Amino acid sequence: METNPDRYVEAFMAQLIARNPGEPEFHQAVREVAESLAPHIAASPVLQKMKILERMTEPERVVIFRVPWLNDRGEIEINRGYRVQMNSAIGPYKGGIRFHASVNLSILKFLAFEQTFKNSLTTLPMGGGKGGADFNPKGKSDNEVMKFCQSYMTELARHIGRDTDVPAGDIGVGGREIGYLFGQYKRLRDEFTGTLTGKGRDWGGSPLRPEATGYGVCYFTEEMLATRGDSLAGKTVCISGSGNVAQYACEKATQLGAKVVTLSDSSGYVHDPEGIDAAKLEYVMELKNVFRGRIKEYADRYPQATYHPGERPWGVACDVAMPCATQNELDGNNAQALVDNGCICVVEGANMPSTPEAIRIFQRHRLLYAPGKAANAGGVATSGLEMCQNSMRLSWTPEEVDARLHGIMRDIHTMCVRYGTQADGYVNYAAGANIGGFMKVANAMLAQGCV
Ligand code: GLU
Repeated sequence: METNPDRYVEAFMAQLIARNPGEPEFHQAVREVAESLAPHIAASPVLQKMKILERMTEPERVVIFRVPWLNDRGEIEINRGYRVQMNSAIGPYKGGIRFHASVNLSILKFLAFEQTFKNSLTTLPMGGGKGGADFNPKGKSDNEVMKFCQSYMTELARHIGRDTDVPAGDIGVGGREIGYLFGQYKRLRDEFTGTLTGKGRDWGGSPLRPEATGYGVCYFTEEMLATRGDSLAGKTVCISGSGNVAQYACEKATQLGAKVVTLSDSSGYVHDPEGIDAAKLEYVMELKNVFRGRIKEYADRYPQATYHPGERPWGVACDVAMPCATQNELDGNNAQALVDNGCICVVEGANMPSTPEAIRIFQRHRLLYAPGKAANAGGVATSGLEMCQNSMRLSWTPEEVDARLHGIMRDIHTMCVRYGTQADGYVNYAAGANIGGFMKVANAMLAQGCV
């Protein structure tokens, strides 16, 4: 039994790194959680004896498979497909599928690990999983995307099911891809069930699922600001990314009276000092979702906006920052720039967008800082609501789903405050989310024995 928290973390991480070499993102995600949990685990003989964190960091199952497909020139292309089934202690594996050139086992294990905690925080019965492929959707035709989705699902279908594992979207997987994946799943299994979430409204999808992650980020932001008697009204907000999460975070923040001044993609960011209002956002949505264009084009359409190639938006002065693009997109220098420019609140729409150094800077300066596993949980929570509607074979109204989403984000915030409030009153949302998410999964694992 190790009773010293620091020594516990170092010994635990040394073992984890030795067992999982060459997986830096997975190490980073686990270390962040291990540091928060260390005081609890170091004081708990039962958690140590039952090897709860050791088991939580070993996926229950990983499937890796060949995804061959024919491109529009009739040539064979080969990608690598994955599904990481991390933890099923509190429900079927649940988590998105990512199609991006950078996808590898380290990234999917970090995402599946984070998902386990996030899903636990939603209060719904969902375990943790994540999948994807190193497929680069950029520049691919609709036909090629469909061929790829069908080939990927041909293998994945045997590993998933409505009570086993329920995938959804993530980077590179939106409504179009879920449609192709669901079509192939249904054809192979000859069943119409809620095995994927993020489906279209007319064929089993939940109202508000597309909006849920971004809206949830803003609802969580409102809860955080309210702890300091403040709100989003009148705030200047910097958002990174221009995909699903960024778009609906921009929409809701604007509806709540904030001015969103940036959006970005992997090539650069646009700064619109006048604010990206509803009409401009409609243009962005068409540009990104229909024409699959680049954010650079925003500055051609709206001349008061400037485009900054190769840069991230964190040097722009703002009150609230919402990183909604990807992992490790906000480093220590970016964090310092935000602090120096007067930012008071950082809310993560993406998964692990802030580096450990950036998080330390936010916390040292006592910013309101919320990790993705709490702040962006509205997406998967609404997936949970979609599963629920599918099981009941009925559909709720958008108002009903929105009210539930709002309630869940409020509950997650309460959980973070309960477990993350420090002696000086500062709320460490990262610690609160890690401890709150862990408790339920750990208790379930303890109850279910050595499995
Ligand atoms: N990919 C999203 C996430 O990171 C959603 C997962 C889901 O809806 O299952 O939480």
